[in-house]
Amino acid sequence: MPDAHSSSPVPTPDSPRPLLVDLHTDALYEHIRGRKDITQRSDEGHLDFPRMKDGGINGQVFAVWVSPTELKPGEYRDFALKGADTFDEVCGRCAESVAPVRTPDEFRQTTASGRIAAVLGVEGGHALEGRLENLDRFFERGVRVLTVTWCNSNELGDSSGDKNKPHNGLSSLGRQAVRRMNELGMIVDVSHSADKTVFDILDASDAPVIASHSGVRARRDFNRNLTDEQIRAIGAHGGVIGVVFLSYFLRDPEAQASIEDVLDCIDHICQLVGPDHAGLGSDFDGFEGALPGLEDATKMGAIGAGLRKRGFVESDIAKITGFNFLRVWDAVADRAS
Ligand SMILES: [Zn+2]
Repeated sequence: MPDAHSSSPVPTPDSPRPLLVDLHTDALYEHIRGRKDITQRSDEGHLDFPRMKDGGINGQVFAVWVSPTELKPGEYRDFALKGADTFDEVCGRCAESVAPVRTPDEFRQTTASGRIAAVLGVEGGHALEGRLENLDRFFERGVRVLTVTWCNSNELGDSSGDKNKPHNGLSSLGRQAVRRMNELGMIVDVSHSADKTVFDILDASDAPVIASHSGVRARRDFNRNLTDEQIRAIGAHGGVIGVVFLSYFLRDPEAQASIEDVLDCIDHICQLVGPDHAGLGSDFDGFEGALPGLEDATKMGAIGAGLRKRGFVESDIAKITGFNFLRVWDAVADRAS
């Protein structure tokens, strides 16, 4: 297991282009629901393929959120699989600029060719319908990231959004699911998980994990944000934390946050565990409104510029804006049996 403070090699490299990777957007979900066309430029919402290109985003995890209220049990898995079909369809329609990728090598080849590497995720472990074989089914369909819980607790474990904690963390099925994800080479995402669930996942997983879209609790006391102890544990496990762009996670509800708060969260994570464990997790199209300075996907380059202004060195900026995610995916893929 990598140490949080090990001096990993400067990620120059095998990628001739700088990476700009976002760990979480709901744009695909919005497309599936017919509320946007992700292939077309729009002024609505935050993210579509043309605006990603303008903003220089060349790696993106697209989450299929599985609504536990609009759908019923028995419909969850099929909705996620339908999302995988839509993912392939929209990427196929824009093959000159976007490619679905299933391995870190495909990710590298795609970004090196100047295209956007699109990674498929599922948000909400209830999509498994309580059956581990659905993990294998998802993996076959290209899913490479699973967010263990959404705001609801499910068969796998407790959510931060659930006052009742029916499992006291990760359930025994959840523990098996994490191990199976390790075997498959699927990235485990701890965002939304309850505090104890996060620690239980780290205990169960022998590959690094991500928190795809979370804030920092030391800066804003909110159950969706990570405590310093969690940040240290995720870092010690070799993982990466995508800092969310949602004002409500960054400042008290009555205050308006801005890009500076995102930079503050990145800075906080780096102070605690070094530059190898911070990343970007916009949650674009997963919330209303816009964060000043990071209004939509076209503004993504402002993160690197902001970090530079704060004195971050180029090699650390490169890690935070993309290479940390690729390092985690490499480790997860290497662990797969
Ligand atoms: Zn979410």
